[in-house]
Amino acid sequence: MNTNCLKGMRCPNPTCNSEGPFSVVGTAAFVVYDEGTESHGDVEWHDEDICKCLSCDHMGTVLDYLGMTQGEQRRYHDHLVQRAFDDIDFMHELVDSYMEKLTHEDYLDEFAEDDVIS
Ligand SMILES: [Zn+2]
Repeated sequence: MNTNCLKGMRCPNPTCNSEGPFSVVGTAAFVVYDEGTESHGDVEWHDEDICKCLSCDHMGTVLDYLGMTQGEQRRYHDHLVQRAFDDIDFMHELVDSYMEKLTHEDYLDEFAEDDVIS
């Protein structure tokens, strides 16, 4: 049973069920020279990143390997979509309040300029 980097992960292929190793597509910051790369920083990966079982070549996402049922995956997916919409709403509110402020200040500026001219 995995308890560290692969905590909770297992190949979802029912005829395999391997507990690793897996090939995961993650991200890391690399030090790159003209000759090539040297060291890299911490490697990160997320639930939606590609994961492949080295025993049976099963391809899926990290989420698939966490043993979530389709219902759980759907709820998790809905949760991510809702969170994205919430973020968009929040950005709209920010932009709206900024635009309101901007318009108001522009109006005041124009008003002040008109005042000077006339
Ligand atoms: Zn496998």
